[in-house]
Amino acid sequence: MDDSELHGLLSDLPGSPTAKQYRNLARALLPYIQAHVPPMGEGRSLARLQFLIEVARRDLGLARILEGHLDATQILHEAERTAEPGALYGVWASGGPDDTTHFMQSEAIGARDALSGSKPFCSGSDIVDRALVYVYPNEQLVDVDMQAASAEHRLRFERGQWKAQAFSETHTWTVTFDQLPIGPEQKVGEQKWYFERPGFCLGTLAPAACWAGGASGLVDHVRQRTLKGGHAKAHLGAIVAASQSNVAMLEWGATRIDTDPANEQGHMFATALLVRHLIERNCTEVLDRFGRALGPRPFAFDEVNARRTTELQLYIRQCHAESDLEELGTHLAAHPNFP
Ligand SMILES: Cc1cc2nc3c(=O)[nH]c(=O)nc-3n(C[C@H](O)[C@H](O)[C@H](O)COP(=O)(O)OP(=O)(O)OC[C@H]3O[C@@H](n4cnc5c(N)ncnc54)[C@H](O)[C@@H]3O)c2cc1C
Repeated sequence: MDDSELHGLLSDLPGSPTAKQYRNLARALLPYIQAHVPPMGEGRSLARLQFLIEVARRDLGLARILEGHLDATQILHEAERTAEPGALYGVWASGGPDDTTHFMQSEAIGARDALSGSKPFCSGSDIVDRALVYVYPNEQLVDVDMQAASAEHRLRFERGQWKAQAFSETHTWTVTFDQLPIGPEQKVGEQKWYFERPGFCLGTLAPAACWAGGASGLVDHVRQRTLKGGHAKAHLGAIVAASQSNVAMLEWGATRIDTDPANEQGHMFATALLVRHLIERNCTEVLDRFGRALGPRPFAFDEVNARRTTELQLYIRQCHAESDLEELGTHLAAHPNFP
C-alpha cells in the first residue's frame, strides 16, 4: 500500500467533517481503493484491513462509511457481480424489532416485488449512491440505487432518531422505503446467501480494524504530548501495548483467512469472534487509560479527540459482547484443537 498517497488524500479531511465532506472524500478515495485495496481472502487480506486502520486512525466517521463500501464491493465480488463504477455503497443489514423492511407484491407496479418498511442503522443513508439492503422476512439481499429511489420519492430518511453527537455526520439514520420496485436483477445471491457465504465471516474483521484504527488515533495523540508524571508514562506503555496487540491480532486473523478463505475447516467465525473480542477489550483499555493519562481536557476542549473517544466508545458496541463470547466458548468446547 502506498501510505504517502493515502495520507495525502486523507489530509484533505477537516477536523470535524460534514456529511458532504465525508461524501466528497469517500468518493475521491474510490480510485485509490480500486487500485490499492485488495479483496479479502485472496492472499492479501491484511492490506485491506491496514487500509481501514489508517483511515480510522485519521477519522472514525470516514472509516465507518468506507467500511460499508468495502463490505459491499466484497459481497458483490463474491456474488460475481460488478460494482457500479464510481458509486459509493453501503450495506444495511441491521435487524431487530425496529427493522420492518419486507417485500410486498404491488399491483400498482405490475405485481412485482416492492420494498417497504424501515431499516435502522443505515450509515451514510443520504451519502451513499447505492446500498445493499438485507430484507429479513424474505431472507434476501437487494441492491438499491438510492439516488433513483430518492428521485422517485420511494424513500425517506428518519433523521431525528439518531440522538448521539458521535457519528452524527455519517447520517446513520433509519431509512423508510415506500413500495420501491425491486427487479430480479437487484437480488444479490439466492435467499439466505448473504449470511451463509464464507465471506460473511471474513467481513466481520473489518469493523475490528476500524476500532483498532480509532484506538491508534488516541495513542497518537498521547504520544504527541509531553508526559510529565510516571503514571502518565505507565498509561502510555499500556496503550501502546494494547494497540500493538490489536495489529498483531488482525495479522493473525488475516493470515488464517488467507489460509482457508472458503472456511473449509469451519473455524473462520470463531477466529473472527476471538479477534474482535480482544480488539474490543484493548480499545476499552485505551479509552480508559487515555482519560486517566490526560484528564478531562481532551474530552472538554479538544474537538477531534472528544469526538474520537465518543465514536470509538459507540463503534465497539457493534460487537455482541458476552453473546459473542458464549458462541466462541461453544465452538471451543466442540473443537479442542482450536485455535
Ligand atoms: C455507529 C454504528 C453504525 C452502524 N452502521 C450500520 C450500517 O451501516 N449497516 C448495518 O447493517 N448496521 C449498522 N450498525 C448496526 C449494527 O450492525 C448492529 O445492528 C447494531 O450494533 C445492533 O446490533 P444487534 O441488533 O445485533 O443488537 P445486539 O448487540 O445483539 O443487542 C444488544 C441487546 O439490545 C437489546 N435491545 C434493546 N432494545 C432493543 C431494540 N430496540 N432493538 C433491538 N434490540 C434491542 C437486545 O435484546 C439485545 O439483548 C451500526 C452500528 C453502529 C453503532
